[in-house]
Amino acid sequence: MKGQIQVKTENIFPIIKKFLYSDHEIFLREIVSNAVDATMKLRTLASLGQYDKAIGDETIDVVLDKKKQTLSVIDRGIGMTKEEVEKYITNIALSGAEEFIEKFKGKNKEEAAGLIGHFGLGFFSSFMVSDKVEIDTLSYNGDKAVHWLCDGSEEYDIEDGTWNKRGTKITMHISKENKEFLEEDKILDLLKKYCRFMPVAIRFGKEKIWVDSEKKDKEGKPERVQKEQDRIINNTKPLWKQKPADLKEEDYKAFYRELYPMNFDEPLFHIHLNVDYPFNLTGILFFPKIQKNIEPVRDKIQLYCNQVFVTDSVEGIVPDYMMLLRGVIDSPDIPLNVSRSYLQSDGNVKKISSHIAKKVADKLEEISKNNHDEFKQKFEDLRIFLEYGMLSDDKFYEKMEKIFLFRNLDDQYFTLEDYKKKIEPLQTDKDKRLVVLYASQPQEQYSYIQAAKDKGYDILIMDGILDNHFINMLEQKANVHFSRIDSDVIDKLIPKDEVIPSKLSTEQTDKLKALVEAIVDTKTLSVQTESLEETAKPMTITQNEYMRRMKQMYEVGNSPMAGLYGNMPDSYNLVVNCNHPLIVKALDMTDAEAQSNVLSQLKDLAMLSQGLLKGKALDDFIERSVSIIKE
Ligand code: ADP
Repeated sequence: MKGQIQVKTENIFPIIKKFLYSDHEIFLREIVSNAVDATMKLRTLASLGQYDKAIGDETIDVVLDKKKQTLSVIDRGIGMTKEEVEKYITNIALSGAEEFIEKFKGKNKEEAAGLIGHFGLGFFSSFMVSDKVEIDTLSYNGDKAVHWLCDGSEEYDIEDGTWNKRGTKITMHISKENKEFLEEDKILDLLKKYCRFMPVAIRFGKEKIWVDSEKKDKEGKPERVQKEQDRIINNTKPLWKQKPADLKEEDYKAFYRELYPMNFDEPLFHIHLNVDYPFNLTGILFFPKIQKNIEPVRDKIQLYCNQVFVTDSVEGIVPDYMMLLRGVIDSPDIPLNVSRSYLQSDGNVKKISSHIAKKVADKLEEISKNNHDEFKQKFEDLRIFLEYGMLSDDKFYEKMEKIFLFRNLDDQYFTLEDYKKKIEPLQTDKDKRLVVLYASQPQEQYSYIQAAKDKGYDILIMDGILDNHFINMLEQKANVHFSRIDSDVIDKLIPKDEVIPSKLSTEQTDKLKALVEAIVDTKTLSVQTESLEETAKPMTITQNEYMRRMKQMYEVGNSPMAGLYGNMPDSYNLVVNCNHPLIVKALDMTDAEAQSNVLSQLKDLAMLSQGLLKGKALDDFIERSVSIIKE
């Protein structure tokens, strides 16, 4: 019998071919997931007592026939009667198609592809790669077998068939332009990508494995031999579908390796998600170790819909900082077959994403409370994730603020609240501001650190790439002020009320400033005279906190201001201690050359301790030092 496909507006096939072209590999996922659905439906019927024969082997076969140029998918599911083929394959799909054609008018390609999945065109995606598609099917209810054939035009054939096994065989006659889908490796890749965790076993080709043989070797151990066996490409019971109570830590680690075989790190923590309300969601998220420099994300979170792979491009679907996590999210509410822009705007997906952020925060709170030692121990590896999350999500900030840990130079960890208590009142300045001191490179900043320690100050290590942004945010939200250890001379780092009297008169101070300015490049180094403790260094290099932070922030962020600040040279101050005996003495010297030499020497020592003495300046310093020793 011949039937006519009823599409009033236009023919559906050119549209399917054209608009799904960029993603045409998904046809295999569509056909295999239909086979899985048909199998699951039979299971349901059996469990309801509406099918009382034995279900038997349910394995789905994917078969390549290079000679016939066909790719077939065979299931042992419910099958279809003739009426069902007409109803489900031809009519429904194509009335959906009409609606689709109406909607897609005036849309761009991506939007159109995004719509396709909403109109039940899954089966028809097989025409993206085929000249001709055949259906052979036998319904579980004992009706006659059916054969359906369509060559991608409006006409199809439907007649009694010869298929004598319960279930359906879809045969795709692969077109010349799509020859790649006749390659075993290609199909294997696609099955592994899309069907890796589908709930019914899928068999494709053969594989070789090593097994023990009957024969024994010299040591009496069984000899290993290669054996060929059917290749099952999927794990039908992925870990996220199992009950957390039945699982051990080792199971999660093994699953992590299964998901990311090329990754050799162990995850820090995992979260097993299991949500029934307000939507259905299961999944497992892992916290990987994150390097100091956030690497491009290679092993990504994978989205599934009922164990069918949807995508691993989750940009815009989960918050950016969540993309640092790994693992699997599975929800029947994640729409299949839609473009990313569609997923991004989907209300369910948005809800899922903010729910996940909340779960992640809850889990971290729980670990910090119940396993504080472990949390502390792994904190440095979690730090960037937390900072990134707190910077980008206010709700996340509010929860994490209480558990985020700061580390001081003695390797002690504190929450901000505890740390504030620790440094009060010593690090409170004259305006009653609490000043947190931090080092970014403890080795390089050694002499500044020593000076601060001598005062009894505590120093945090803040060396992450997000720390400048993070510090700025804390200053706004948490009522503290941060100063890097080299941002001022020690007596001014935390300004106090008491004033240290100067040994020099105003004229002497002006003279001193002029003398020092004569020996430095004032464009890169601005000279500052201060009356400090006698014991402080005669000269010190400092770098203004605010200016430095601005510059570094624009260097890290890809802000439009990047060029403006990024290209700015670093600006340093040379602070001269008017009360230091050597300075007082140098000012009194009558030999101008000797005076200049002493001041230059002191300046170079200050430069040296900041690692700023290079090239000719360094060589001059060495020459001068040698001649001073000679004298
Ligand atoms: P969807 O799967 O989104 O409903 P499809 O176009 O892929 O859309 O399939 C349409 C219908 O055809 C299915 O809902 C199902 O009833 C029927 N069908 C497709 N493939 C099979 C199969 N292998 N076995 C039984 N029924 C099938």
